[in-house]
Amino acid sequence: MVAGLLHHNGVTMGAQFRRPLPENPKGFYEEEAFRCFNDELLNEGGYRVKDWKPEFNGVRASPNSHAIAASLIERFSQTSDAWGWKDPRTCLTLGVWLNAIDTVQLLGNTKIILIRRQMRSVSRSLYRRGNIASLSQGAKLYRMYYAHLERGLRGYGPGLPVLRLRYERLLLGLDLDRLEAFCGLGLKRKCIDPSLDHSGQRIRERSGTGNSDRPEERILRDGGERALHHSYKDLARIKFALRRVADRQYGLCTNCEVPIDVERLQVIPETPFCADCARIIEAN
Ligand SMILES: [Zn+2]
Repeated sequence: MVAGLLHHNGVTMGAQFRRPLPENPKGFYEEEAFRCFNDELLNEGGYRVKDWKPEFNGVRASPNSHAIAASLIERFSQTSDAWGWKDPRTCLTLGVWLNAIDTVQLLGNTKIILIRRQMRSVSRSLYRRGNIASLSQGAKLYRMYYAHLERGLRGYGPGLPVLRLRYERLLLGLDLDRLEAFCGLGLKRKCIDPSLDHSGQRIRERSGTGNSDRPEERILRDGGERALHHSYKDLARIKFALRRVADRQYGLCTNCEVPIDVERLQVIPETPFCADCARIIEAN
């Protein structure tokens, strides 16, 4: 979703994208060169992504692989000033890529956008597709990916700009302003795919390309631009909270997944964040 949004707003996400799959008929914004080379890197570390095994010790690239990674980075840098790639398996190979980026002296121009989706929905979706035998395998796999990702990030210290976003919030149209500020872009928001989530209807209306006769939305529209913006945010938060009740996730911080204080929930029942995360997010 974000890769497509960036690609249609001036950030080249690749030249040759992965073919669409039945579960994602609109296709992917995943450049084949990076995907395929990530697979090769992982093979070098004795790991096959499609085995869905939650055990992996990490990869140390051979000098040859390091050179290939650096040449890929250079090749794409020559074709576009603003470019990027998306491939979830980069979580497992991030250290190799950051080394390569360092070698071609582009570390100072590098930004990382990290979009986290709820563990439960990732596990469910892998389970539904028959990739994993149990939800607990999905949970282990999820934690393994994030452990490697955090390790890869630590290697390059706090100097690297990293934007952490939640997939579920983006679907609600939240946090796009943070994405814009981080990338220095004004985003045309039509690339958010409403078929991914029912809240997409609201996102279309917010950007002015949709129409609805639902009374609560008419009230919001009639309330003026400013009021609309604030009310929309509240409505989205309440809707999000109700969905989390249905998913039995209500009361857990969507950012760090620790339980939110009861006193805080009594004051702002729709809050998706614990006090600590709310402070960090507000400060950003
Ligand atoms: Zn939190």
